[in-house]
Amino acid sequence: MPTRNGGRYLMNTTRDRKFDRAIMFYKRGMTLQQLAGLYNCTRQNMHEALKRRGVRFRPIGKVPKPQPPRLTREQKFWLNVDKGGVDQCWNWKASKLKSGYGHCWDGEKSDYSHRLAYIYAVGSIPEGMNIIHSCSNPSCCNPAHLKLGTPADRAHHRDAMGRNGSYKCRGENHLNARVTNIQVQQIRKLYAVEDVTQAKLSRQLGISYSIIWSVIHRRSWNWLPDDSMTPSTISGESTSADEAGIAENHGCRTA
Ligand SMILES: [Zn+2]
Repeated sequence: MPTRNGGRYLMNTTRDRKFDRAIMFYKRGMTLQQLAGLYNCTRQNMHEALKRRGVRFRPIGKVPKPQPPRLTREQKFWLNVDKGGVDQCWNWKASKLKSGYGHCWDGEKSDYSHRLAYIYAVGSIPEGMNIIHSCSNPSCCNPAHLKLGTPADRAHHRDAMGRNGSYKCRGENHLNARVTNIQVQQIRKLYAVEDVTQAKLSRQLGISYSIIWSVIHRRSWNWLPDDSMTPSTISGESTSADEAGIAENHGCRTA
């Protein structure tokens, strides 16, 4: 089959094909002279043969830079881990899920980065077993923070860390809570029983208007049941003193 090369039609003969390896050796740094010795021909013949195959010749005396060794999949994996001290969390630097878990391609499928970290550092994970983060940091790939456990162990650990989905951290136990459970019940009670505006409640209790609004409209703290306390028993200093003031505001509710 004739092939077009540099404007000339050449026959792709067996004679040309035997130079395939010569091209590879040349690209790896062998000189034409060395190749000529290997193929038992003159340097000129070797030059012409390679030229026919479309080889781009390097300047005389120039040896190609050695290529850096290719990284294994495991080496590439650890490049994406922000390795710190032995006791610190080693966070995953590449793509993560919304839940905070890192994920990575393991050659066959996508897997969690902490599972791959365990596999590379410790060994394979038996069927049906889970990897548990002792640090509760989903992004952590430090093998010292990863341990093997059954699904029951994992659930137990999750419960122990207060992440069991039963909202142990909700309400006044939550880090960002601005009001207490009692205050929420107080706000609702006052608004229901007394004829008072939300703005007035906000000023009275020293709580921002937006919190008062969301509590009353049950956009937050909806899970908290109303109590049966009367307004006067809830807040000793504010209710009794302010009830008179609240009562002045009839007809101005902004609900
Ligand atoms: Zn950790």
